[in-house]
Amino acid sequence: MWETPLSSLKLFWGLYENTNTNPNNNLISNFNNTILKILILANNCKWKTWDKKIQELKDWWMPEIDLDVTLEHTDFKNIPWVEYTNLDGKIYKGIEQGWYDKNISIPAVNRGFDCVMFTVGTDEWTFKDIDGWNTHNNLGIHEIQIKGQENAKYSFNGKKYEGDQWFNIARHELSHAIYRSRGIVDNTHKYWELGNLEAIKRELQGGFMGHSWVTYFRNLLTPVQGYKYFNQNEIEGLKPELCEMLDRARGLANTPFFLNSTVRTKEKNEAVGGVENSEHLTGESVDIRCRNSAERFAIIKALLDVGFTRIGYGKTFVHAGISKTKPNKVMWDY
Ligand SMILES: [Zn+2]
Repeated sequence: MWETPLSSLKLFWGLYENTNTNPNNNLISNFNNTILKILILANNCKWKTWDKKIQELKDWWMPEIDLDVTLEHTDFKNIPWVEYTNLDGKIYKGIEQGWYDKNISIPAVNRGFDCVMFTVGTDEWTFKDIDGWNTHNNLGIHEIQIKGQENAKYSFNGKKYEGDQWFNIARHELSHAIYRSRGIVDNTHKYWELGNLEAIKRELQGGFMGHSWVTYFRNLLTPVQGYKYFNQNEIEGLKPELCEMLDRARGLANTPFFLNSTVRTKEKNEAVGGVENSEHLTGESVDIRCRNSAERFAIIKALLDVGFTRIGYGKTFVHAGISKTKPNKVMWDY
C-alpha cells in the first residue's frame, strides 16, 4: 500500500510492541549473525533418514538463517528426568539440568556451538505430553531436547502440520531459541496457531522490528499478491479471508484503512484491555482508524457491503471481525 505516512506511524507501534519482555535474555549469547552452529546429538537413534531430516530443516530456514549442522550419535542410558515449572506456571518433566550441562551442553559450548539438540529415543523420553523442550541457563548456548521418533506425524494444539515429526519439533524449538537470542517477543506459538510459519522467518531475520531493513522496506513498498491496498507489514499474521474482505472494503470505502490493531499477543491483548478470547488473538479481526463521522459511515458501509457480520465502533476506530465461533450479525459500541 502506498499510504506511506500512515505506515511510518505503524513503524512506531511495531517498535513499541517488540519491546523485549524476556527476563532471561541477558543470560544468552546473542548470535545476531545469520549462521547458527548446531550440534545434533542423537541418543540411540541410528536412523536412516537423518540426512533427509537435517536437509529439510536447513532448507526451511534458508535464507533467513543458515544452519551449520553437525550430527553425532550417543548412547546414554538412564537419563535422569525431573519436574520443572515452566513460565506458564504448569509442571513439565525434562532432563535434569545438571546432567544435561555436564554431558550435553558444556562439551558443546567448548566446541563453539550456538545450539545443541539432544534427540532422545521415545523409549527413554519419559514425559509423553510434550515433544520438545527448550531450556537455557547461563552457559550461553541454546539447549534443546527432542523426542526421537523416526517416522511420525506432528500437530501443534490440534493443528496438523505437513512433514516429518522430528523436523517439525526441531524448527519449532529453534524458533523459540532464535527469538530469545534476537531479544524480541517470542511469537513462535502465535504463528504456529495461525499456521503462518513464514512470518516467523521474516521476524527472525534480525535487524529492525524483527525484520532486516531491506525486508521491512520491501514489505512496505510491495503490495501482497492479491491485495491492492495492504503491504505485508500491515497484515502480518492476519487470516487471508480477513485480508481479502478488508481489501475489497477499502476499495469501496475510498478512504485509507489504517490498521490501529491487528494480531495481538496474549500480553498485548491484556495490556490494551482486550477481552480474554479476543478475535485479535487469532488473526480474525482488525481495528480500523476512524477520525470523523463521515469516515465512520464510509468504513462501516463498506464493511457491511463486503459481508462483515461482526462490527464494533468506538470514537476513534471501527472493529471488523470474521470469527465464526462468536455471535454474528452483531454491531456493538465501545
Ligand atoms: Zn513451543
